[in-house]
Amino acid sequence: MTATSLPIYLDYAATTPVDHRVAEVMQRYLTVDQLFANPASRSHMLGWQAEQAVEQARRQVADTIGADPREIVWTSGATEADNLALIGYMRANRERGMHLVTSTIEHKAIVDTARALEHEGFEVSWLAPGADGCIQPAQLRDAMRDDTALVSLMAVNNELGSINDIAALAAVAHEFGAAFHCDAAQAVGRIELSVAAQQVDLMSLSGHKAYGPKGVGALYVKRHPDMRIEPLIHGGGHERGMRSGTLPTHQIAGMGEAFKLIQQQHAEDQARIIQLQQRFLKGLEGLEGVYANTPLGQSVPNILNLAFEGVDGESLLMGLRDVAVSTGSACNSASVDPSYVLLGIGVPRRLALSSIRFSFGRFTTEADIDHAITLIRHAVSGLRA
Ligand SMILES: *Cc1c(COP(=O)(O)O)cnc(C)c1O
Repeated sequence: MTATSLPIYLDYAATTPVDHRVAEVMQRYLTVDQLFANPASRSHMLGWQAEQAVEQARRQVADTIGADPREIVWTSGATEADNLALIGYMRANRERGMHLVTSTIEHKAIVDTARALEHEGFEVSWLAPGADGCIQPAQLRDAMRDDTALVSLMAVNNELGSINDIAALAAVAHEFGAAFHCDAAQAVGRIELSVAAQQVDLMSLSGHKAYGPKGVGALYVKRHPDMRIEPLIHGGGHERGMRSGTLPTHQIAGMGEAFKLIQQQHAEDQARIIQLQQRFLKGLEGLEGVYANTPLGQSVPNILNLAFEGVDGESLLMGLRDVAVSTGSACNSASVDPSYVLLGIGVPRRLALSSIRFSFGRFTTEADIDHAITLIRHAVSGLRA
């Protein structure tokens, strides 16, 4: 297959390609002539060298969010980090309270974990966002109780691109003596993150949403005498007992390099992506019945969720074979369910089923946008005719 026959990739919110510079770093930690050793091996130099690579990556990830390296726990991704934050914290803090607050439009890694906690006897309050996809601090205040142990709200929504005011929400949680967890998988490189300034106690991160590899992530765990997390994975006591298992040096070094590049390139990437988003929206001007589900102006510029009235989203996906995008709908054997996130912000079912998420990134070009616009206009007019 030649490069020109590849679809235009506008699905950066699902995953990003690994930056070439990251792939190069990862290759240093695999083969016999390189630093392949177990970073937990204390008895030889090869082990120490692998450990050094892991610790450098830990600093790079910590620096990106304004944390101390000792506050980073490596995981297999943001899904595991979300599980560890919610289950690990709630189980370890039963005497603080059995109540958890989250929202209806969190990522499945939070929604399904919170449901599992309900089955375990914990109580969950599900906040409903406004049409802008955001949770208001006053709303959170109303849901807080004496027995609320933890609040979990995401920084950037993966389907909408909406941005929560994390600092304000964390302040409310702390007013009531609860800890604050934030799923920041979509936020790295898109908004400024500082666990110190935003007063976040637990933060989930993913490698592959930020030009790093899949299969690696981290949980930031604030260093505090009161901070207790029960591990989900038991074994050799790695990661200060919170997550056992031999550390994947190449994955971790890759995530570290990716986050270092985010620090260097965040501003430049964002400036370009804002231009691309404007070019995309301008290109769709004049096409009737197109509505933004994304709260434009209060969202990250790399995610655009649009409804195409009168066009079935799945048919549109078929019509857009040469553009890699997603609907956010879930397919069952018999039917297609509209996205729970779109329903969650009050989008009517009919429009939710006509919606597509376009997401851009570091390697998207103006030519990609222009080509995609042509294909979208063609497909939408064809399906409406
Ligand atoms: C992608 C994503 C996750 C899951 O991350 P993995 O590293 O793929 O497990 C969790 N939360 C949000 C908001 C995401 O976008």
